Amino acid sequence: MELQNIYIKEVYPLKMIEVLRLSHRVSRDPRISTHVALTARAFGASKIYYSGQKDSNVEDTVNKITENFGGPFEIEYVKDALKLAEEKKKKGFFIVHLTMYGLQIQKEIKDIKKQKNILVLVGSEKVLPEFYKIADKNIAVTGQPHSEVMALGLFLDMYFDRKELDKNFNNGKMLIIPQNLGKNVKKLKE
Ligand code: SAM
Repeated sequence: MELQNIYIKEVYPLKMIEVLRLSHRVSRDPRISTHVALTARAFGASKIYYSGQKDSNVEDTVNKITENFGGPFEIEYVKDALKLAEEKKKKGFFIVHLTMYGLQIQKEIKDIKKQKNILVLVGSEKVLPEFYKIADKNIAVTGQPHSEVMALGLFLDMYFDRKELDKNFNNGKMLIIPQNLGKNVKKLKE
């Protein structure tokens, strides 16, 4: 009963977060870009765009997870990342670029939380100055170099105030029932 409540609850219906992963390289980034996408999905974003090299393996993996564990969540390749950011800005999205050189997340998150539609930029190789400029805020998750996966996960967790942990995913084929030992997976459909 309690479990059902956890999964049915709509925890933040009014917010839309999308992610733009910059400069994906097929030779180096498939695993980490996949993890960026899966982190975006699990922690409350509704869509990830990626630029750089198109990679159908990454797209297939992410789409398979969404098919199995639910959505909504989309992945889309974009040729021109700056153009996408400009279009999103025109549509009223607030742009947050995650970079260790930015302002401290712990000081800025209160302001960012007031924004309903956000496009979060995460880099891979060196990020062009244009993205720093188009960002409404350049935000550091510590001033230390680490990982785009961690930076994104912590940003989303702070933005959603931990409510993303109760997010309800729809139309999946299976649902994991939490338990201490062993795996309990409920089959929802074929
Ligand atoms: N020199 C890069 C930079 O500008 O942050 C670090 C490259 S890092 C391998 C790839 C991406 O991870 C960055 O573009 C950024 O989006 C994210 N990242 C890494 N460390 C971060 C931090 N401390 N705060 C925010 N984002 C970070």
